[in-house]
Amino acid sequence: PALLLPAAAGLVLTPATRTHSSAAAPHARPTIRAVLDVDVSQQRVPVPAAFFEKSDGLLNGKAAYDEMYQRSVDDPSAFWGEVASQFHWEEPWSEVMSYNFAPSKGEVFTSWFKGGKTNVCFNALDRHVAAGHGDQVAFIHEPNEEGETVKSYTYAEVLDEVQRLANVLKEKGVRKGDRVSIFMPMVPQLPIAMLACARIGAVHSVVFGGFSAEALSGRLIDAQSTVVLTADGVMRGVKPINLYDIVQAATKICGEACMEVEALVVLKRLPDSDKTPTLVEGRDVWWSEAIASADPKCDVEWMDAEDPLFVLYTSGSTGKPKGVLHSTGGYMVYAATTSKYVFDLQDGDTFFCTADCGWITGHSYVTYGPMLNRATQVIFEGVPSYPDNGRLWRIVDEHQVTQIYTAPTAIRALMRSGEGPVKASSRKSLKLLGSVGEPINPEAWRWYFEVVGDSRCPIADTWWQTETGGIMIAPLPLEGWAQKPGSASLPFFGVQPVLITPEGKEIEGPGEGLLAIKAPWPSTIRGVVGDYDRYVTTYFPIEGEEYGYYLTGDGCRRDEDGYHWITGRVDDVINTSGHRIGTAEVESAVVLHPDVAEAAVVGFPHPIKGEGIYIYVTLNEGVEQSDELLQALRMQCRGEIGAFASPDVIHWAPALPKTRSGKIMRRILRKIASKDTDADSLGDTSTLADPSVVDTLIATSPLA
Ligand code: ATP
Ligand code: MG
Repeated sequence: PALLLPAAAGLVLTPATRTHSSAAAPHARPTIRAVLDVDVSQQRVPVPAAFFEKSDGLLNGKAAYDEMYQRSVDDPSAFWGEVASQFHWEEPWSEVMSYNFAPSKGEVFTSWFKGGKTNVCFNALDRHVAAGHGDQVAFIHEPNEEGETVKSYTYAEVLDEVQRLANVLKEKGVRKGDRVSIFMPMVPQLPIAMLACARIGAVHSVVFGGFSAEALSGRLIDAQSTVVLTADGVMRGVKPINLYDIVQAATKICGEACMEVEALVVLKRLPDSDKTPTLVEGRDVWWSEAIASADPKCDVEWMDAEDPLFVLYTSGSTGKPKGVLHSTGGYMVYAATTSKYVFDLQDGDTFFCTADCGWITGHSYVTYGPMLNRATQVIFEGVPSYPDNGRLWRIVDEHQVTQIYTAPTAIRALMRSGEGPVKASSRKSLKLLGSVGEPINPEAWRWYFEVVGDSRCPIADTWWQTETGGIMIAPLPLEGWAQKPGSASLPFFGVQPVLITPEGKEIEGPGEGLLAIKAPWPSTIRGVVGDYDRYVTTYFPIEGEEYGYYLTGDGCRRDEDGYHWITGRVDDVINTSGHRIGTAEVESAVVLHPDVAEAAVVGFPHPIKGEGIYIYVTLNEGVEQSDELLQALRMQCRGEIGAFASPDVIHWAPALPKTRSGKIMRRILRKIASKDTDADSLGDTSTLADPSVVDTLIATSPLA
């Protein structure tokens, strides 16, 4: 039944939310009661009419999506063949798609555009410059220090630097198929480095510039990359990060493991010349000197569609990082197409993705997707909290940003300081707001929608993974497509999500289960570096009667409108007294409380219930912990979810352990909750942003 309301029907929101959506009224957080009065899955927020004043919309309403979606799954080869023909192919493909997801039927593989030859860098740069768009700004460099003068890049300038750098790489001996690691700050030269690799067919492995020498060396060794692009260092907020020193330490660790790093190309970025490192002679070169003397012309290497474009290590919130491999042709087509439709990317837009290129989001929605669409982008070197929590919104105003794409963790952090820093800006240029990385809890969704977007901008809550290469489930900003706060809603073209039971049976209609994907989309993961078995056992462990599935590792609920609600990772489902509860659900309930900044929920062994519910709660600035508050949070879980969801333990946590990409590491929280905290049990904490948080939590445990 089509229950979705057309845009004209107005907002279906709680009374509390409706009052504070008026711009003049001071932002009162919705009372818990008001929020509890409605079932969130019944809330439908139409794409605001104001959006259509800024955009004609790329498709003619939800019905056009329905028709295209159907075509994309009925005949994927015809659908994607048509989409792919909009790119430059040096040689045409002979077969659009073939695959096997069922290990019992032979080798697991996915292939798109077999036999076709193309180059992603050519499509992202040369194609646009040749069409006369060389003068369009590609990268606006927004530095860490507000007001510092830095160079922005046009498409022609990017192409020039990419070609020179590609020649520098060649001089260093890099050939097609070699892996090059990139350990750089979020400055325009980072996507430039990636594109230079792509140009000559080198496989890049970007490692986020916040990682330690230990973590970096592991990735250098696993990828066997002997050439590294880096920088002397960078300021992130008030904190200097001496990247060169970290690389130096990492190369020593590599040396001990019998891998010699042969060349470093070092970008100078630190402001103080007295902090300039001394380079290793014969091995290292300064970026600026190397490109100044490099040949400005570098022909592209025509790549097979299935040649690898890059490897990227997953952030490791659930275990040892895996080197995820992506292809050339399929990845290009999918990153570009999702960018265009999900963000309504059009000529004249200025796109601002706050993710670092060290993560998949920065790959697909900075370096590749937007560039393939010839977007103008803001590349932000700093952090949203520096010099204060208003920074992002000032950037939006200064560069007239049309779409911002950020993470719930950032939104929640900014919410802590209230509306003031947001309202000090105009944000009139914004037409759409994106979210990625975690389920966005409905309260943060509302704040993003009402306070940041002034109820004018639709929210693209995008569910996807490093392994999927591009956005898989997300609402498109179309007339008639109702948004539900907290739900990523419906699949992108060609994506067939299914819910399955642990036994591998598909669940029809509304229900809850393991989220899996039937049949490949163009940017399906192509492998795990050096580990075919891990690739198969992690992602393709379940076979149905006729075919296998790509298993996402996330749990999901599908409601009566077919909308998808990610309940968290499968191993984050708590089984308490026979009730299965997703941790995300309990977290959403707890953070509704006005005093709570953030919450993380895990299960722990409970003698009677099997598993008990353990909640880590971080309070807002200035709020004191108290028994009343404890009681209120208990009541809130009961009221929002049910009596069975009443927490067994509430732990007042000064901070939560997060990966450098800002995700809560629940693996560690589970260990602390089960009082299993020796170093062996805690496992690899090298990907944590601040490992000291772990000790603080052990010390403050209410079970101690
Ligand atoms: P690792 O796989 O190493 O543990 P990771 O899964 O955190 O790390 P990513 O690939 O960056 O690394 O994140 C993908 C995961 O993030 C998804 O599987 C899902 O759990 C979560 N996620 C991302 N976006 C959303 C979203 N919009 N809604 C809900 N969950 C999301
Ligand atoms: Mg993952």
